[in-house]
Amino acid sequence: MPWVQIGLGLAVIAVLAWVVTLVGQRATALDRAKRAEAEALEAERMRDRREARMPGGNPSHPIEVASAAVVEPRATSLPCPRCSSPAHVDAHEVEMHDGRRLRVTRMRCGTCGHRRPLYFFVRSSARPSPEASGEGIDVRS
Ligand SMILES: [Zn+2]
Repeated sequence: MPWVQIGLGLAVIAVLAWVVTLVGQRATALDRAKRAEAEALEAERMRDRREARMPGGNPSHPIEVASAAVVEPRATSLPCPRCSSPAHVDAHEVEMHDGRRLRVTRMRCGTCGHRRPLYFFVRSSARPSPEASGEGIDVRS
């Protein structure tokens, strides 16, 4: 039965790879540097996930505002989550997420340079405006 032999061969290769890995895992300076880098990357991912859970950090929970005019003032009122310094709006865009029209400000920290998007939902954009749909405008007069 060749499958048994292939399976045994793969098992032997896996065991050898595991042994080689164990032997190779001596704590050299290079290993420590790699570990520190991996920890820094993991810490970065943790910060990104935490920022995504903050209000406006994710398209699924945007900051609600009454009008588009207050999007940028509101965005710049929020400090950089990394260093608490003021952040600037690099770009202000409109994006569709799950059928909702969201405003997105691309924020950049003036001190540490950290960049992140902030998502806003303009309450008045929840339904088509009367001007856009033609409703509510008296065309007879
Ligand atoms: Zn910053």
